[in-house]
Amino acid sequence: MTDTNSIPETAIDPVCGKTFDPRSIRIFSSDDKGTHYFCSQDCKRRFDSADTKSKKGFWAKYTDRLKDTHCTRTPPECT
Ligand SMILES: [Zn+2]
Repeated sequence: MTDTNSIPETAIDPVCGKTFDPRSIRIFSSDDKGTHYFCSQDCKRRFDSADTKSKKGFWAKYTDRLKDTHCTRTPPECT
């Protein structure tokens, strides 16, 4: 799941909301929601150490951002 082909060209950090290139940064973490990409070890640490409740907060913000950016960037993902 972490080979180069499975890494998207852009990802949104669920912690800080930055859009970045996970192929060059390559900091990720996997859980039951899938693989998450982070712009820095700091953001990953914040995500990993967050309790379930604040993770939900991260995810609510993250999915809101996806709703905003999603359809303008990668139409195939809109299905
Ligand atoms: Zn970040």
